[in-house]
Amino acid sequence: MNKLLIYIPVLLLFAACNLQGQENQQTESLNDMGHLNHLEHITYQSAMADTSNTKKVVRSEEEWKELLSSDEYRVLRKEGTEIPWVNKYNSHYEDGVYICKGCGQPLFSSETKYNSRSGWPSYWAPIREDAVDEREDNSFFMTRTEIVCSRCDSHIGHVFDDGPEPTGLRYCMNSAALKFIAKDESAE
Ligand SMILES: [Zn+2]
Repeated sequence: MNKLLIYIPVLLLFAACNLQGQENQQTESLNDMGHLNHLEHITYQSAMADTSNTKKVVRSEEEWKELLSSDEYRVLRKEGTEIPWVNKYNSHYEDGVYICKGCGQPLFSSETKYNSRSGWPSYWAPIREDAVDEREDNSFFMTRTEIVCSRCDSHIGHVFDDGPEPTGLRYCMNSAALKFIAKDESAE
């Protein structure tokens, strides 16, 4: 019995060290890919001031693969669509701005976000008209209008004409293509 009492704390310590190790490993590998640092410098203020940069972001396929997680790569670079309802921003309604996960360009404001009940984050307008480009998408035997980021040409989602006033548009986006930056109260 006494021996067992000694073993239990030792086992717990061992388990705790192991968990710690795994956590560190994960953070390090993300850092190695550069992904955590990629958009980290963008604040709410800098995003809102980022309205006139029209320089294209061009990267090789290898660079995209290094920069993005596999889910992000599939959506942004391979026109993938994520699973509805369970994605990150479907039911997310904080005040702030949604930037492109590929290049950091501000794409949507929380002010135009609404609940479309589609299972994907939906907006009735982009943050600026020139933040997104439209392309015809004829995949899956349908004709849809694809939305890409105007700066890095990454696929973000599609636009449909069943949205609410004032535009009547529904920008149906993929959470994996976006990063949310909360409004900084001190910025007001
Ligand atoms: Zn972009």
